[in-house]
Amino acid sequence: MLLSRFSRVSLAHLPTPLEFLPRLTRHLGGPDIYVKRDDCTGLGTGGNKTRKLEFLMADAQDKNATVIISQGAVQSNHARQTVAAACKLGMKCELVFEKRVSDASEPYLQSGNVFLDRLFGANIREVEKGTDMDAAMQSIADELAADGETPYIIPGGGSNPIGALGYVDCALELIVQANTRDLVLDHVVHATGSAGTQAGLIVGLKAMHSGIPLLGIGVNAGRTEQEEKVYKLACSTADLIGAPGLIERDDIVANCDYVGDGYGVPTKSMNDAILLLARLEGLLFDPVYSGKGLAGLIDLVGNGYFRDAKNVVFIHTGGAAGLFAYRDRLSTDPSS
Ligand SMILES: *Cc1c(COP(=O)(O)O)cnc(C)c1O
Repeated sequence: MLLSRFSRVSLAHLPTPLEFLPRLTRHLGGPDIYVKRDDCTGLGTGGNKTRKLEFLMADAQDKNATVIISQGAVQSNHARQTVAAACKLGMKCELVFEKRVSDASEPYLQSGNVFLDRLFGANIREVEKGTDMDAAMQSIADELAADGETPYIIPGGGSNPIGALGYVDCALELIVQANTRDLVLDHVVHATGSAGTQAGLIVGLKAMHSGIPLLGIGVNAGRTEQEEKVYKLACSTADLIGAPGLIERDDIVANCDYVGDGYGVPTKSMNDAILLLARLEGLLFDPVYSGKGLAGLIDLVGNGYFRDAKNVVFIHTGGAAGLFAYRDRLSTDPSS
């Protein structure tokens, strides 16, 4: 697993800190909870997409790209980090947004991530919910190529085998941190969406024979669909690093019980989890991904899912810029 074989450009502050959360641990009365601060990757307020972009943007540079095209929801954290990366590397950026959330409010449509996208100078196009996003990006690429540009398409969430290398590397980084501190990690937990984070992590954890189970908390699809998506990407990522057959279907576990009414739709448990971590640890999580992931972690500790564990790591994938977009849909008072 020699990641230096792949082109890479430095965009992230690495390694991200691995921090113990003493007050949350005491409050929950379960295993010791650690947080891996991938919200602190640094690029344009940070987040998990920056690790993927180190490999994706290097590939774009290798192909002499002049313009990056990517897609997501209006409040996509991936889009924000992508346009910031394009700025840093002197490329233009085209973003295609799917109007995925119905009855969107003014802050949702104008503030948070999309405000930062405009600040970074992204060219933004919006399409209706249900649009074939890959086809939409391809038609923009054709249009730009006809104008003499060299477009490079990054799929939603940066989730392809090249992007997933960023999380293979994160697994390596985490294992080194645990070994250095004599810390036995029993579980790794994080929010899973477009699958690149979980796919990369499981490939890295298995390639090193860590024996650590990985749990993705879903924010979008149902369990079978989510696990299949991760499995497929993990297999192709394993192929890319030269370890075909590394991943078995059973290695992929997603819990999709905390999605609520759908992608980007707030839940009470997410809102309470965000307040709890803010007030116990001074940490900010986001309403769409890390807040729902955290709600899952908290509920599962209560259910005894981690009964036999001593140490659990939650990977904080970032997204706090999205809080401002949800200011009219999040309560600042705990529900009970
Ligand atoms: C994109 C994102 C995720 C999910 O990561 P995937 O690689 O898409 O599964 C989790 N948290 C935040 C804050 C994100 O922006």
